[in-house]
Amino acid sequence: MLRGTGATLTLVGGDVEALTRWTSAARSAGFTRVAVAPGPAALTGEALAQLVAAGVGALRARLYAADSGAHDWHAKLEGSFRTTTTLLRAARALRVPATVRTPLTRSNARVLAALPGLLVDVAAVGWCVEVIAEDEREPAGGLVPRLGVGLPYALQAIAAAERAGLAAAVEGAPACLLGPLREREVPSPARAFAGCCDDCGLRGGCVGIDAGYLQRFGAGELVVRGRTAAEPAAPGPRARRLQDMFSGPCLEIAEGACWPI
Ligand code: SF4
Repeated sequence: MLRGTGATLTLVGGDVEALTRWTSAARSAGFTRVAVAPGPAALTGEALAQLVAAGVGALRARLYAADSGAHDWHAKLEGSFRTTTTLLRAARALRVPATVRTPLTRSNARVLAALPGLLVDVAAVGWCVEVIAEDEREPAGGLVPRLGVGLPYALQAIAAAERAGLAAAVEGAPACLLGPLREREVPSPARAFAGCCDDCGLRGGCVGIDAGYLQRFGAGELVVRGRTAAEPAAPGPRARRLQDMFSGPCLEIAEGACWPI
């Protein structure tokens, strides 16, 4: 049974008809807001306008890069960049708040710096870079970057996004590798921990590291912090805002429209 808690429910995948039906059900069940997260083919602006009329109040999109070549390669769909950015511009025209997620890969880390400018142009309200886990649908390690190489690019891009006025977050990264941007991390399911993590003062607030990554590369990139390492007592206003944008219940309502990773 669908039961809301006053939170935002994100509907993943689905066509306009199904999304309209589920939006009505979600609002009746008590969710104060419904967001839609279409797959690589996105939605047309007309479809989004219909969904807004039916009660949809937010858009969740995914962009791998600020150019069609890199984005479409990751999305495994030619034209995905064009349809996704067209949808984001339609959301801007309809005044529908849109957030964007970007999985961090070996192939997009070095070009992430171009994304904040595009996201500001389409008036996205928030951006989250995801540290991905090994994916069974890909050759092992084919997309996952070494954290010591890829994550600094992500953190630099997040800092640039903030300078441009865009709220930016990171998900799935070991806390010891975030430096002064630890408060930008949004909650995600816990991963694995290395033996050295037992002595780390940040463990209580750390998501850990992907088990497949740990097995492949070991724990050499992790930086164990002393027991006296400062733990954030409670999420500040910025952290709460990012959590509101990038956490919350999701409902996958259709097969065939999901992202490859
Ligand atoms: S050393 Fe381990 S527990 Fe400590 S922050 Fe890094 S991954 Fe987390």
